[in-house]
Amino acid sequence: MDFFSKLGDSIVSATQEVGEKAKGMTDVAKLQYEMRSKEDFLNKQYQEIGKIFYQENKDAAPEAYTSLFEEVVAAQKRIEEIKEQIAYTKGGKACPKCGAVVSGSAAFCSKCGAKMDEDIFEDEDEVVTEEKTDEVAEETVETVSGEVVEEDEE
Ligand SMILES: [Zn+2]
Repeated sequence: MDFFSKLGDSIVSATQEVGEKAKGMTDVAKLQYEMRSKEDFLNKQYQEIGKIFYQENKDAAPEAYTSLFEEVVAAQKRIEEIKEQIAYTKGGKACPKCGAVVSGSAAFCSKCGAKMDEDIFEDEDEVVTEEKTDEVAEETVETVSGEVVEEDEE
C-alpha cells in the first residue's frame, strides 16, 4: 500500500535524521535551558529594579505609576490585615498603643514595648507578684522571636 510504504520510508529517513540530529538536539536543549535560566534571571532583576524604584519614589509616585503604586499599597495593607487575622486566630491580641498583634500571653508589645493591658479579660482579684513578673518577662522574650504562643496550638 502506498501509504504504508511511504510511512516506512519516512520512518527510515526519520531514524537516520534522529541519529544525525541527536547531538544538535542536545545542543538545542542546552541552549533552551540556558535561555530559561536567563529569562528567570531577568525576571528577578526586573523585580529587584521595581522594588528599588518603588522605595525611591513611593512618596511622590511618577504619574505613569500612580495606579500601580496604589495597588502595591493596597496589597501591603491587605497583607498586614491578614497577618493580624492570623495572629488573632492563633490567640494573639492587639497592642493598645500601636495596634501590633502580639502573643496572647505577652505582657509587653514586641513592637513598641508598651504594656499590654492583660487584666482586661482576667479576674480583678489576681495579684501580680514579683514571681509573676519574672514569668512574664520570659514570655516576652518568646514574643520577640516572632512566635505567637498559644497553649492548645497544634
Ligand atoms: Zn505596640
